[in-house]
Amino acid sequence: MTDRVDLIVVNGRVLTMDEARPRAEAVAIGGGVIRAVGTSAEIRAMAGPATRIVDAGGGSVLPGFIDSHVHLFQGAAALDFLPLDSVRGADALRRAVLDYADARPDEPLILGTGTSYGLIDGRNPTRHDIDAILADRPVALMAPDIHTLWANTKALQVCGLLHGAEMPEGSSVVMGTDGLATGELLETGAMGPVLRLSRTGGRDMLGYVTGADPVPAATAAERAADKALLARGLAHAAARGITTMHNMDGNFYQLELLDELRAEGGLQCRMEVPFHLKNFDPLDRLQEAVEMRRRHDDDWLWSGRVKMFMDGVVESRTALMLRPYPDAPTTGQAVFEPAHFNQACIRADALGLQLSTHAIGDLAVRRTLDGYAAARTANGPRDSRHRIEHIETIHADDLPRIADLGAVASMQPRHAAFGGWFDPPEPGTAFHADQQPLAYPWRAIRDSGARLVFSTDWPVVPVDVLPNVQAAVAPLDLGPGWADQGQSLIEALGSYTRDNAWVAFREDRMGRLRPGMLADVVVLDADLEAVAPAGIGRVRPVTTICGGRITFEAPV
Ligand SMILES: [Zn+2]
Repeated sequence: MTDRVDLIVVNGRVLTMDEARPRAEAVAIGGGVIRAVGTSAEIRAMAGPATRIVDAGGGSVLPGFIDSHVHLFQGAAALDFLPLDSVRGADALRRAVLDYADARPDEPLILGTGTSYGLIDGRNPTRHDIDAILADRPVALMAPDIHTLWANTKALQVCGLLHGAEMPEGSSVVMGTDGLATGELLETGAMGPVLRLSRTGGRDMLGYVTGADPVPAATAAERAADKALLARGLAHAAARGITTMHNMDGNFYQLELLDELRAEGGLQCRMEVPFHLKNFDPLDRLQEAVEMRRRHDDDWLWSGRVKMFMDGVVESRTALMLRPYPDAPTTGQAVFEPAHFNQACIRADALGLQLSTHAIGDLAVRRTLDGYAAARTANGPRDSRHRIEHIETIHADDLPRIADLGAVASMQPRHAAFGGWFDPPEPGTAFHADQQPLAYPWRAIRDSGARLVFSTDWPVVPVDVLPNVQAAVAPLDLGPGWADQGQSLIEALGSYTRDNAWVAFREDRMGRLRPGMLADVVVLDADLEAVAPAGIGRVRPVTTICGGRITFEAPV
């Protein structure tokens, strides 16, 4: 190794996330690693004639952001679908759908994303509502959480769902009193047939929709298009200061495409890709996760984690709760039965795999912890860092169990009722009053001594880290009945850097700026510590550096 310095960042407010030296002004990079951290004068003295100089202009300089829960393929695909995040009411929906449809006469499926629950006068759209807008082309509207899809009659007919269909556990085609589908499709098993009509052939969803893999084999042209789409998604994330993402859906197909991109020098972010174990998969499929880990295990692309779903989401009342919802006679849906889930945890843990389980309702969180406890009892304690995704509510009895089991709470600030992105639920609908103090319980979990990591869950919310930091630091005040779950700026930034490196077992190489660490750096256009909390979300990355290479520069 030479001590050549390729690039220096000077004149910054450097937050290193390294306890040994938390603050500095400048960073020197060479050979893809951090060479030194120091004052601007010290670092300038290391530059040679060929050294590139990035002047941070007094803005914050941080370890490159790590987003620990994304869906890259879907996020990238959604860049070309119809965004409905800010659309409310039938008239606005009509305009948005027709404008998009007119502009894209050949689009095989008009797919709206981020469709608000209760979009039409507080209720969800039926196939008839969508038919009234557009009946002769397939149209489907995806809920923001990607757990519910509303389709028109044409879409249901084309994929044979109009008269209902047999579905895997946890998925359903909602039927009306007329004996036909209402248009509402719950969970990936039911959404999959419609999504396969889309411009991506639904391949963006394959990492979590289907049982067999690869399904269906992509043609050479489709493969090339998918690879280009992934590259576009990676560039989109790099432009947001991101240098590493942990994917939450995964299969060999995505890994192969990313590996080809890496070989071509087109991997703009480091990627972790898990194996998705479905409730109908035989547990022997866990060997595929072992094979994914064997084939892909370096700092650009790696595997070694299993993703599972324990429940659905609060919005469709499919999140699994200890008692019925205030406004619905249901406790939600268990995707896995407890004994089956425990066996899956025991088997995966015995193979040395990390677990990550989507668990939103308080009963889902409890059963997930039960599964992690079963693994620990069967296999003995180890540094497993098993993750629980979302935890939108937790029973007080379960709060200490996260730390006791060495598990990790993986949460998304902008998902919260007080996160400022989604409309908060009306009182007495989604949560009982006594559940609210432990709803989206970031503070309570951190104070319990458990590890807490933050992410976006792109495309559920945009893959912009700083609006999430703002949501964590300055959550909305929804009034009495909700606890203040606010985080300090350093806690929130630490989560998107050092802690997200840790949860992927890479804390020795990523997430801090210190000599020898991988040269992943983001330069921002303002000093985050001097910005009012309500303005953090407007701070923009100006330069992103991944592995010592500039992956994004804001246009001047
Ligand atoms: Zn997700």
